[in-house]
Amino acid sequence: MKLTVVGCSGSGPGPGSPASSYLVEHEGFRLVLDLGNGAFGALQGLIDPGSVDAVFLSHLHADHCLDVAPFVVWHRYSKRSPGRLVPLYAPVGAERRLAMAYDLDGDGLTDVFDFVPVGSGALTIGPFEVALARTAHPVETYAIRLTAGGRSLVYTGDTGASERVVELARGADVLLAEAAHPDGDPDQPPGLHLTGRQAAEHAAAAGVGRLLLTHIPPWVDRIAQLAAASSVFPETELVAPSGVYDL
Ligand SMILES: [Zn+2]
Ligand SMILES: [Zn+2]
Repeated sequence: MKLTVVGCSGSGPGPGSPASSYLVEHEGFRLVLDLGNGAFGALQGLIDPGSVDAVFLSHLHADHCLDVAPFVVWHRYSKRSPGRLVPLYAPVGAERRLAMAYDLDGDGLTDVFDFVPVGSGALTIGPFEVALARTAHPVETYAIRLTAGGRSLVYTGDTGASERVVELARGADVLLAEAAHPDGDPDQPPGLHLTGRQAAEHAAAAGVGRLLLTHIPPWVDRIAQLAAASSVFPETELVAPSGVYDL
């Protein structure tokens, strides 16, 4: 399994990265996790967009889904689309929400996507065994565990502190975890985002092999997030755009 970071800026695109998007590949199958603002530009620098086999959206906040719109534009107008429907796994309501983002008066996006509503539990996407768990976030959001070739990757999506995320990540080789909130803020709202320390505590509690920190907003100190996490879970690193991880 190969993970490539397409975009990792938290809560919106930043000066050095698009918003959330990750490419996961195994045996030639290409799965894109989230398509946040700016991600489609970076994705074109990595692969032919027509080679995307499936898309998973953790939730429908703008920084995780809005580049579905340029993905549709490309498929409709580039004359390079292979013309097959792309399965799009997302929480209930994605079809209407994304059609509105594209064009309020449009006919929907079903000429490009086969919308598959998801919930907590197990499913299969291409060569991946998939498990989903509802996270602690203000809108319906799913963390995803992908298993293939005896390796496993867990991506938290957006979440506050969550026992369900710890259970989903139990024993995973890699935990790709958001760390959007700075440590030491007495006004941190519950059920929204993790701090660097909390991400590391989740990694430690789940007994994962490595922790990759992501979704750090442009206004939060990345190095401070890394330092806080590493003090709890030493096998931690910050991801960056175009970063590649062979699991
Ligand atoms: Zn987000
Ligand atoms: Zn969110």
